[in-house]
Amino acid sequence: MWDFSTDPEFQKELDWMAAFVREEVEPLDLLFPAGGAPYDVRDEAARAILRPLQQQVKERGLWACHLGPELGGKGYGQLRLALMNEILGRSYWAPTVFGTAAPDTGNAEILAMFGTDEQKRRYLQPLLDGDIVSAYSMTEPHAGADPKEFTCRARRDGDGWVIDGEKWFTSNARYAEFLIVMAVTDPEARPHERMSMFVVPADTPGIEIKRNVATMAERDELDEGIHGYIRYDAVRVPTDALLGGPGQGFAVAQARLGGGRVHHAMRTVGQCRRAFDMMCERALSRRTQGERLADKQAVQELIADSWIELEQYRLLVLQTAWTIDNLPHGAARTQIAMCKVAMAKVYHDIVRRAVHLHGSLGTTHETPLAAMWMSVPSLALADGPTEVHKTTIAKQKLREYTPAPGLFPSEHLPPKRAAARERYAAVLKEHGR
Ligand SMILES: Cc1cc2nc3c(=O)[nH]c(=O)nc-3n(C[C@H](O)[C@H](O)[C@H](O)COP(=O)(O)OP(=O)(O)OC[C@H]3O[C@@H](n4cnc5c(N)ncnc54)[C@H](O)[C@@H]3O)c2cc1C
Repeated sequence: MWDFSTDPEFQKELDWMAAFVREEVEPLDLLFPAGGAPYDVRDEAARAILRPLQQQVKERGLWACHLGPELGGKGYGQLRLALMNEILGRSYWAPTVFGTAAPDTGNAEILAMFGTDEQKRRYLQPLLDGDIVSAYSMTEPHAGADPKEFTCRARRDGDGWVIDGEKWFTSNARYAEFLIVMAVTDPEARPHERMSMFVVPADTPGIEIKRNVATMAERDELDEGIHGYIRYDAVRVPTDALLGGPGQGFAVAQARLGGGRVHHAMRTVGQCRRAFDMMCERALSRRTQGERLADKQAVQELIADSWIELEQYRLLVLQTAWTIDNLPHGAARTQIAMCKVAMAKVYHDIVRRAVHLHGSLGTTHETPLAAMWMSVPSLALADGPTEVHKTTIAKQKLREYTPAPGLFPSEHLPPKRAAARERYAAVLKEHGR
């Protein structure tokens, strides 16, 4: 059955969320715009505004909706979550207000899936309650897209493990209570069994944040960088710091990254919609040569192209969410990769057009478009570069095909035409053809 409608009861929740984000949450974006602000649990002024908002979300039953009921969420499923995330994506702070901010969502997921009871008690519960934040430490300075190149090591030593190496772009490391670190534990094993995952308290001796790296969306001179360049120097952790079994690092990482990518794709629909809304308002408000920008065919083309791309992308995201909800685990793998690739391209194209239609104003920091434009490159890189996901899509699709049986393609027309003639030979003969 195909059905593109939203249940009216759930639509009421979406309407409440939209108004709440616009009126109550967006002011936080304006008051605390710095890169890591939503994650800085030590900023008392921001927390004093944040906490009552989080409380309202909890009372409404909309807190941490990515989680199943066993972890305190509503268990809405991915399709409803997609509709919610479209609203949350419009605001930088909204995911924190609703308990769905990355990377804590992904970290909570793997703690729930692979964590011991003690790890869940110590890390998962405060994370779900929004009391602490966490970081995910996988990428290394010399290698990112291909984890098989990683060299950060963890060696068995007495009753624990000792971690040595460097990690790069560990987002929010400076605010994190703990880090989830991927390290090589058995370099001789098969590539996908070489690494393990560790839960490491951020105050463990030997952890040094060499630099808080700023992307172009953050400002170095204002110390806004949030991506930790970290040295792990003989960092000793107990045996029970392992998350999952030894050699399970890849499996744990995969479990985390799929959900993270699709949630990001859902939020990006909201960001694109915000840029599109701005584009339309501008086209109707600005005049040139005696008419509105909206009356110019070239401008209409920008708007039409943007809407077509946004609707195509949105339907892909919703269908992916539906697949995750309804088909066996792993069935959405290709679709998630498609969302990741499409996200970066559609976002780039729509934000670029919105900036352009706003003329000189579009190039300034006086509209939300500046922050959007500066995060364009990150979208094509974080959680894996576009090329890697395109490779996944192509490989998966190619598995559904086989080589041509002979010298010519199976769609070669001469033999097909001959077979068609043979099949209907009697009829053709009867009609003298
Ligand atoms: C905003 C942001 C937040 C991030 N947060 C985290 C985090 O919290 N924790 C963490 O561990 N990491 C994080 N990362 C790192 C992210 O996962 C890596 O940037 C990503 O995996 C790519 O790795 P890299 O940057 O080393 O690029 P590289 O691997 O060096 O790739 C650079 C370029 O090489 C090309 N390329 C690479 N591989 C292939 C291929 N197979 N085929 C064809 N071309 C290829 C592509 O053009 C690619 O863009 C974050 C990144 C960003 C931008």
